[in-house]
Amino acid sequence: MPGPGAYWFGQEEIDAVTRVMQGGHLFRYGSEDDPNFLHTVATLEKEFAKYCGAKFGLATSSGTSSLIASVIGLGLKPGDEIIVPAYTFVASYTSCIFSGVIPVLAEIDESLTLDPNDIEHRITSRTKAIMPVHMLGNSCDMNRIMAIAKKHRLLVLEDCCQAAGASYKGKKVGTIGDIGAYSLNVFKTINSGDGGLAVTNNANIYEIAFGMHDHGHKPSRLGVEVGSRNMLGLNFRMNELTAAVALAQLGKIDKIISTLREKRSKLKKLIEEAKDFKFRTLNDPEGDCATLCTVIFDTREQAVKVSKALGSKTIDASGWHVYANMEHVLAHLKKIGQPHTKGAYPKTDDILSRAMNISIGVVDGGLGAGWGININSSDEEIEKAAQQFIEACK
Ligand SMILES: *Cc1c(COP(=O)(O)O)cnc(C)c1O
Repeated sequence: MPGPGAYWFGQEEIDAVTRVMQGGHLFRYGSEDDPNFLHTVATLEKEFAKYCGAKFGLATSSGTSSLIASVIGLGLKPGDEIIVPAYTFVASYTSCIFSGVIPVLAEIDESLTLDPNDIEHRITSRTKAIMPVHMLGNSCDMNRIMAIAKKHRLLVLEDCCQAAGASYKGKKVGTIGDIGAYSLNVFKTINSGDGGLAVTNNANIYEIAFGMHDHGHKPSRLGVEVGSRNMLGLNFRMNELTAAVALAQLGKIDKIISTLREKRSKLKKLIEEAKDFKFRTLNDPEGDCATLCTVIFDTREQAVKVSKALGSKTIDASGWHVYANMEHVLAHLKKIGQPHTKGAYPKTDDILSRAMNISIGVVDGGLGAGWGININSSDEEIEKAAQQFIEACK
């Protein structure tokens, strides 16, 4: 049950992979004067940065490794604190935790993204950064978040893993803060099985993130390396085959998003008449990916009733993304003296207990989006889904 890009795998991906295989070079580095080495990873980095309107792009092995490279790229150090929403994928937390950085959780609002009203009172003398997570394809309220960051001199790491192609007031997400991290796993807008990307406009941040992703090397391993490395890193590199698939998918991203928007607006119009719910707030309706349609009911009872009738789940009862369901994260938060009990973020709990995700492009029971439509659904299928929803609401 994948994201929309997987529904549209086709000849383009097959041809791109075949070209790389025929060249015989699968590693991201190769000889400049070998015509069989296709520079696919480097091309993806350039193309994705261009697509986002960023100066630098970095391809990685996953969204998680992109986040770690970003945390290190920002210069965050063990003991620093970063403010992260209580509704996100576990990697938003673990990428900080394994870097020694302390995730400080904050509430979400009815956009299902970080609540700007719940940031400032969580800032301490150790706070160094904010991680807005553009959840379910919808951007955070970046104007307010950036204003808070500026006021308190905090860095901003945008977790864009669920929002490839999303923008906020004309700018692609990931280019508003200091660095943005993307994922290419199977559940995301476009995918290459696994894989990640980071974008930034800051040369220094890029260089350190690059070094983190490749054993402390300078970008593209240019120059005399031995004797001039000033940092340690790991191996988060992407290979040429992954990049070939990702590039073919990138060629489809705008069409994917316009198709999803069209299908979602059809569905939204049809179900508007049902009572006792509202659609989640979109911080920029023009820039949303439309991978999902989130409905928030007036009461928990209604949310449970409707989701049950549809064979789905309220978000709080779904597997992923809910802090209260992450026993391993709660255990870690307890160890480091952070709030660690279910109920620690009551506003988030309340919203998620009344909300359900309807699939539009990302079909994933783990998101509470096991029911809905997909990117290939016909008008009849959309109408049928709408009728089921309206019926379930009665
Ligand atoms: C998917 C996701 C990640 C991690 O991406 P991977 O490619 O699976 O490592 C991080 N943050 C969020 C919000 C995600 O949805």
